[in-house]
Amino acid sequence: MGKRYHVTTFGCQMNVHDSERMRGMLESLGYEEASSRDGADLILFNTCSIRESADNRFVAHLGEAKRLKSEHPDRVVGVGGCWAQSVKDEVFQRFPFVDVAFGPGQIHKLAEFLNSDSLSAQGYFEFEDFSASLPTLRVREFQGWLQVSQGCNCKCSYCIVPSTRGREVSRDPAQLVAEAEALAADGVREVTLLGQNVNSYGRDLPKETRIGFSGLLGRIDAIDGIDRIRYTSPHPKDMKEDVIRAHAELPALCEHIHLPLQSGSSAVLKRMRRTYDRQRYMDRVSLIREHVPDCAITTDIIVGFPGETEADFEQTLEVVDEVGYDGAFTFVFSPRRETEAAELGEQVPHPIKVERMERLVELVQARAAEQAQRFVGREIEVLVEGTSRTDETRLRGRTRHNKAVNFDGEAEPGEFVNVEISVATSQTLSGVAAKPLSRLL
Ligand code: SF4
Repeated sequence: MGKRYHVTTFGCQMNVHDSERMRGMLESLGYEEASSRDGADLILFNTCSIRESADNRFVAHLGEAKRLKSEHPDRVVGVGGCWAQSVKDEVFQRFPFVDVAFGPGQIHKLAEFLNSDSLSAQGYFEFEDFSASLPTLRVREFQGWLQVSQGCNCKCSYCIVPSTRGREVSRDPAQLVAEAEALAADGVREVTLLGQNVNSYGRDLPKETRIGFSGLLGRIDAIDGIDRIRYTSPHPKDMKEDVIRAHAELPALCEHIHLPLQSGSSAVLKRMRRTYDRQRYMDRVSLIREHVPDCAITTDIIVGFPGETEADFEQTLEVVDEVGYDGAFTFVFSPRRETEAAELGEQVPHPIKVERMERLVELVQARAAEQAQRFVGREIEVLVEGTSRTDETRLRGRTRHNKAVNFDGEAEPGEFVNVEISVATSQTLSGVAAKPLSRLL
């Protein structure tokens, strides 16, 4: 066909994974990737709907697609992902220039639509299949995603994901091991296991094949060629001791755990329906410190949840100070339509949210900078990702603790090097590389 496509991806790593699948599928249909939308016959968006702001940002991009389609009416505009799923009943009325829309579980339907002579707009929104069954086109050859489950059974009061991605469905473990072996054979050194609630993996599997998340980690760790394992996104309620101990026992499983806190106040956690309180959360942190003392811990925190008092917020600051996170994603609460939290009273005024966010970020960065000093003077293994973003004469990579490192040295993307760390900030480490490990052999 020789037609050209362009995909814009918004949101989480699951969407990044899904877009790699979309690109792989289109290339297998003979499409080629265009470097920009105006060079494409097929303009695609893989959308996020986690916050109102994400919606608004995306709709602005859609405006450009509308203009490009009016210039060449035979162009095809397609919208996939969580936003498409969340507006499935009104997408074509609101955006009549959109030709095809599909939910996260329906990426394969895009191929069906493109192969059909359908003249009318088509929408596909049933949770039918894992995008993982599609061919993939990875952004980096040596890093790969492994989707282990789809959907979420939790009911966090601010979150739209259960309604856009459905109930939790775990993939068959034998299939996952076969896929990870294929990734390793294809040059992947670092694999990231993906799921909305990744560490509740396996509960819904049939008895005869049922294994838990730590069991799955063990099977992936046993695969030759997989040097690093990461996973996202876990839920504290499912961060069991066997998973934490796996970080101490499995050679490939990296010393980094992302443990979303959201709030340090048990009262706010209750209204968020997070199903753990501050004490239970801190028990998880103590277990991590016990089994993996040098483990990096990062988190997600929402500021300004309805009803959050100054005292509640102080408790969030206390937990941040006590844990000493290596990093944190911090968000100002924004009411999401069709969520319980949007209907809650006592919405916090915006200026107060902003003021609290500033104090939170200041503390997170101060503690993260203190924590990062533990790497100074150490030789740390780094997986090279490419040229530094801040200095093209230097290289960039990531440690097993998921710290970004800018360094001087010679190495190729995908190689492991030992870097002597000389400087550490809250965000990045800096140093000089010893010879690439692969060149020492
Ligand atoms: S665990 Fe909560 S926040 Fe995470 S996807 Fe599920 S419902 Fe949303």
